[in-house]
Amino acid sequence: MKRRNWRFKKSFLVFCAVILTLLLVGVCAWVAKTVHPKSVTSDGESVNAQAEQSTEDGYAQQNAPTSQQNDESQEPSASAPPASAPPASVPPTDPDDKVIYLTFDDGPSKNTTRILDILDQYGIKATFFVIHTYDGCEAQLKEIADRGHAIGLHSYSHDFSIYSSVDTYFEDLNKISDLVYDATGIRSKLVRFPGGTSNTISKNYCSGIMTTLSQELPARGYYYFDWDWDSTDASDKQVPASQIYEKSIKAAQCGDSHVILLMHDAPIKSTTTDALPDIIQYYKDCGYRFDVLSGTSYTYHHNPNN
Ligand SMILES: [Zn+2]
Repeated sequence: MKRRNWRFKKSFLVFCAVILTLLLVGVCAWVAKTVHPKSVTSDGESVNAQAEQSTEDGYAQQNAPTSQQNDESQEPSASAPPASAPPASVPPTDPDDKVIYLTFDDGPSKNTTRILDILDQYGIKATFFVIHTYDGCEAQLKEIADRGHAIGLHSYSHDFSIYSSVDTYFEDLNKISDLVYDATGIRSKLVRFPGGTSNTISKNYCSGIMTTLSQELPARGYYYFDWDWDSTDASDKQVPASQIYEKSIKAAQCGDSHVILLMHDAPIKSTTTDALPDIIQYYKDCGYRFDVLSGTSYTYHHNPNN
């Protein structure tokens, strides 16, 4: 009787273990799908599940069509780019070399000096994709460059009407390029599209413009960069620092060896600066080094969605 009881118990325990394992596998698969923003398309290219938000400061979309004014979460590209599109990313040469590229869009602003001070405290460099935030912002642009960080071109106006044509786009790009050059003496060739390459707001201005521009920029000697991780600091006007921190560190938790992290330096994004020291410390503790984007660095491209 005792033996039969023991057998029954044993079978029951095995049954429980199998059910528990199946549940764990299911939960892990679900977490991997929903939490990790990267997914892999059929052609092996990773795409991001969250594209840059564009209305964080109110100046981003002042002239956007009404139907798009609240479209803060641009969905990612889900389809493969045309065959002629540039490669989505340059694979890391050494998988053991873990690198993070901190990127700050939409500055300079009242947060910039604090960001620079924090970066200095940790002895690291970052990349700033700047816009014309106010007349006289040249001094801050110069400070970013003087303190050894990379300056990239985001847009002069950050108005999505720049996507009306190739000419209007480059007219705007040339304006921010000249502003940066006048302020720093640097003719930057680093570019990040407002809304990212995968933005769909541009459809309201010109069909196919992002596909065209993603080919036109390299042809004119520019290097454009999207991001493979989003801090989500633009998912609302002001996102709690704790959320920004949690979202930002997930790339390390997922084991990504090369990370381009999207953050914002717009005036309202003070919580991003609040979260920054902890984000840096986390990546340092995980063995990452910090670098700036360049024409020879790791890069990451979203698929054009328009
Ligand atoms: Zn932006």
